[in-house]
Amino acid sequence: MSRRTKIVATIGPASRDPEVLVRMVEAGLDVARLNFSHGSRDEHAENVGLVRQAASRAGRQVAILQDLPGPKLRIGPLKDDIVDLRVGDTLTLDCGSEQPGDIERMSITWDGLPGAVDAGDVVYLADGRIRLCVTAVREGEGEVDTKVEIGGPVASRQGLNIPGSTRGLPAVPRHDLELLQFGESIGVDLVALSFVREPEDVLNVRKHTRTPLIAKIEKPQAVENMVEIIRAADCVMVARGDLGIELPLEDVPVVQKRLLKVAGRLARPSITATQMLDSMITSSRPTRAEVTDVANAILDGTDAVMLSQETAVGAHPVLAVETMATIALRTERELPYEEWNNTRVRRDTRDPAYTIAHSACQAAHELDLAALVVPTLSGRSARLISANRPNVPIFALSPGRETVRRCGLMWGVEAASMRRHEVTEELIADACRRVVELGWVKPGERVGITAGLPSGRPGTTSLVQVQEV
Ligand code: PEP
Repeated sequence: MSRRTKIVATIGPASRDPEVLVRMVEAGLDVARLNFSHGSRDEHAENVGLVRQAASRAGRQVAILQDLPGPKLRIGPLKDDIVDLRVGDTLTLDCGSEQPGDIERMSITWDGLPGAVDAGDVVYLADGRIRLCVTAVREGEGEVDTKVEIGGPVASRQGLNIPGSTRGLPAVPRHDLELLQFGESIGVDLVALSFVREPEDVLNVRKHTRTPLIAKIEKPQAVENMVEIIRAADCVMVARGDLGIELPLEDVPVVQKRLLKVAGRLARPSITATQMLDSMITSSRPTRAEVTDVANAILDGTDAVMLSQETAVGAHPVLAVETMATIALRTERELPYEEWNNTRVRRDTRDPAYTIAHSACQAAHELDLAALVVPTLSGRSARLISANRPNVPIFALSPGRETVRRCGLMWGVEAASMRRHEVTEELIADACRRVVELGWVKPGERVGITAGLPSGRPGTTSLVQVQEV
């Protein structure tokens, strides 16, 4: 059986080379993430072309994920590239300015900061490594005075976090909506929304696009609203980088487990992200703790595991993907498939598709089927079956090229194109032919096929049939 857990990898200077990308795809890259917090539009457009070429050379489907920056706060440029802040130093934050900063004064991209903090609040810089305490707020001057509580080096344009506070921050900045349109024009398959706080943040973006939306959970408010947010979104990302700044670090593992459980219950694909193989940015071998972290996320039920700096700027982008794939394959031998089939997804009594998906997985276990074959227009049937975690391959077939690629994030799903059919019997016969033609199933093997009546309409999956191909 091939690997079921999907691998998301961030594209950056270390992976923009066509040869490196092909090797990453061959090693198991399923979803290429373009981080729109960095890089120009031209670079991202070029990246889309490079990924499409690499996928076609490697003969594999790769989805492209556009990760929008959201209301991420950053310091402005610094006169020297790195400034070393020491405990006890005073630092003034100059809000809404782009003036190059130094050890005493740094600009902040957002002019709303004085209205969002009070004296005594804590502000973090440099991915949470540096802690400042607000000593005075001068709204009139647009300045916030702070004292350094934990020091260290700060570089130009690094992130700034005010844990918990959202006063005055737009949920979806206008810039994100412009980037969303741009992403659509270059053909991205999935869009991730940063710093989501409530379901409305997702629903508001949905008015502007039909591309599936991934809610990144990284704010305490999002953790409180996780059920409603995950229900409003198409997928969820456990964005552990910012989550570990916004919440106490020791909360991250338990929040991860809760998020993955809710995602399973609501049948939404999930991504576990950030620092999974961090030491591989420089080293050719991960630590035992990192290998265990990847394995635990899979045992918690994640659909996908994500590489960030490891593949964007790291020294071993191909090896990092290979390492993920190896850990996934080994861990998947231990998953509680039958138990998950009975308990993981909450079935919806008003929607037969949930029961059909569950029944198909039950049939796969009880009848020892070779595979589940899932003709799907929107990808929904494949998603519901995947969420039940059957211990057989899930082969999705769709007339929509976008649907085929979007399946890239779904655990255990391999997808390919097929003709559109209006008659259910013809759909089933063609699906059987197609999986044999693709070499996915051998003639004479028994599979379970789901289909909808009337055929050709999304959301009508209503039967599962067992037959030899
Ligand atoms: C994270 O914070 O973990 C994350 C994935 O988001 P970003 O890389 O945009 O900070």
